[in-house]
Amino acid sequence: MNTYTRFPVVLRKGRGMKVWSSDGKEYLDFVGGVAVNILGHCHPRVVVAIQKQAQRLLHVSNYYYNEPQIKLAKLLVEHSFADKVFFCNSGAEAIEAAIKLARKYAKEQIDPERHEIIAALNSFHGRTFAALSATGQEKFRKGFDPLVPGFRHVPYDDIASLREAITERTCAVLLEPIQGEGGVKIPHENYLREVRSLCDERNILLILDEVQTGMGRTGKLYAYEHSGVVPDIMAVAKGLGGGVPIGAMLASDKVVAAFQPGSHASTFGGNPLACAAGVATIEVVLEDGFVLDQCNRMGLYFKERLEKLKQEFPSLVREVRGRGLLLGMELTTGGDPIVRACFEKGFLINCTAGTVLRFVPPLIVQRKEIDQLTETLHAILSAQSQ
Ligand SMILES: *Cc1c(COP(=O)(O)O)cnc(C)c1O
Repeated sequence: MNTYTRFPVVLRKGRGMKVWSSDGKEYLDFVGGVAVNILGHCHPRVVVAIQKQAQRLLHVSNYYYNEPQIKLAKLLVEHSFADKVFFCNSGAEAIEAAIKLARKYAKEQIDPERHEIIAALNSFHGRTFAALSATGQEKFRKGFDPLVPGFRHVPYDDIASLREAITERTCAVLLEPIQGEGGVKIPHENYLREVRSLCDERNILLILDEVQTGMGRTGKLYAYEHSGVVPDIMAVAKGLGGGVPIGAMLASDKVVAAFQPGSHASTFGGNPLACAAGVATIEVVLEDGFVLDQCNRMGLYFKERLEKLKQEFPSLVREVRGRGLLLGMELTTGGDPIVRACFEKGFLINCTAGTVLRFVPPLIVQRKEIDQLTETLHAILSAQSQ
């Protein structure tokens, strides 16, 4: 269906940072499946894990355990605040699961009237109905009323507004640690800590949407690790399977007690093939700290190069923001012509929120590739400023 604005290209092969189209053209991929291909295209460890698992077992029902699911759950729990995991197939599904768990917990354990979720304006949580109802952007919601009741929105990074919005019916606060889709918006240093204290004070759950920021994207495995606080519930997806569709909702034991057999389910959730890809991906990310190191080093370098463009083209570039390899360059005009010019020159980049060029390349990106892109951007901006 006509749900995407697409480039006139068919991609058929990828390796590392590169993809090739069916007519043989080569592109450097700074979109990375929108923050999905954290290890680049067709990482050998992920490919081999999928091949081996495909020969052993593709799918079984969640009436039974399977080995890759056990392994992945163990890895996720050992390397996060969480005690338990629910597997699904996408970011929106992880958010749906988080909302359902939060409501069931609050209604049963605290007060049957508690059901409201407070989310942020300019947020993005996915396209299914509850996730869309949590999403604080009119452009995604338009035409789909009535949405799911019980959601309120407050300005992001504004603790006073959040405090004011809390009522006796508030069950949870749902936030992205960095707003990705909304234009790579980074909150003040203390914001998440203040949100956490406020939630504790009022006995409200904190749900973090790490679908885009998770799996090493910001230089730590999860972005909440920068803040010094932990959530009660977290949604992850995108990078988790290294390119294979998988999502997960993680939570602490206290909250998880609200779910019993039958409370929630997913036919494909936690299927052995996707989980085998997830295990290989996380193992590579955590091995020797190399991937996270590379993400931090290349993130700093990339940001420096973008800052230089800002200095050279102050009338075109408003601001450079980001952490690790979640980077945004806000322009003073629409970003689409620049995205198209990059495409013509063999670079895949993305524009979000109309004016923000967003860079979410594989975490294995190298200096020379960043140089190639920023030199190309330099040429395009020069031509624009003439
Ligand atoms: C992409 C994204 C989602 C939705 O994920 P899907 O897999 O497309 O459903 C939710 N939250 C955030 C923060 C995202 O970036």
